[in-house]
Amino acid sequence: MHPSCPHCSSRNDSTSGPRKILRDGYFRRRSDGRVIQRFHCRSCERGFSHATLSLCYRQKKRTMNHRVEKAYIEGCSLRGIARTLGLSRTTVVRKFVFLGVNAERELEEMNQNLPKVAQVQFDEQETAESTKLKPLSILMVAEKHSHRILGFEISEIPASGRNAEKSLKKYGRRLDRRAAGRRKLFSQLKSFIEERAVIESDDHPHYPSEITSAFPQATHRTHKARPARDHGFDELKKGKDPLFSINHVLAKQRARMSRLARKSWCISKRKERLRLHLAIFAVNHNRARARLEKHVESKRGSG
Ligand SMILES: [Zn+2]
Repeated sequence: MHPSCPHCSSRNDSTSGPRKILRDGYFRRRSDGRVIQRFHCRSCERGFSHATLSLCYRQKKRTMNHRVEKAYIEGCSLRGIARTLGLSRTTVVRKFVFLGVNAERELEEMNQNLPKVAQVQFDEQETAESTKLKPLSILMVAEKHSHRILGFEISEIPASGRNAEKSLKKYGRRLDRRAAGRRKLFSQLKSFIEERAVIESDDHPHYPSEITSAFPQATHRTHKARPARDHGFDELKKGKDPLFSINHVLAKQRARMSRLARKSWCISKRKERLRLHLAIFAVNHNRARARLEKHVESKRGSG
């Protein structure tokens, strides 16, 4: 069956009549050597090919997409990836944006196609844009059992401690936008979470009222913040942690994303790019968790 025309959406009628879409030879794509079928549309007299419909249309280094993605979620930096794969920085950034935009869409679809979740955990993690004087907060929401990431939101926060005064002087007043971020994400996630879900978090004073207004039927359980297991390893806690699921996701994120690592040279220059990187991480994390679940399930079935 020939594809329909991407320009005028004409298609070949399966029953009778003259055919509108004709084969029109083929070409060998330079970027990966694949043979691509070309078509001609008789309605609009324009040409197209199987490649026109692809997400990677007109990419010159399409074979590198997967490698760049893997490197990004194994904690490599932008420049590190450019050096090891022999690409220019511009190419790596372009690929990164392409992968990020696709990942955002995939994360949404992934959660839409899976059943609604009944147990949820959420927490916030700090990072910064450009400089420590411009801190950001990442809100992460995940399913308790599977650790599946449901969504995230990035919000600006004011600098604190000894950076507060410097930040104010250099960049002006910076508002705390976390509450607005939480409201936005919670309302977006309504379609992924059961009405009577159990939602767990730490005992931040603002959480209970926000959860009640976003999920009026849900049960909100709070847990006291626990001390970190090691210095500089805040996400993993001493002893048995009731918020282990979400803390594990956040710890993994710190370890796997160069820009979130502690004492790192890498930093996000733009909030937008942090969002794309988080989407790439989330999609790969969810895929890995899904494979793991399937594996455990099959073991249980056979044993
Ligand atoms: Zn056409």
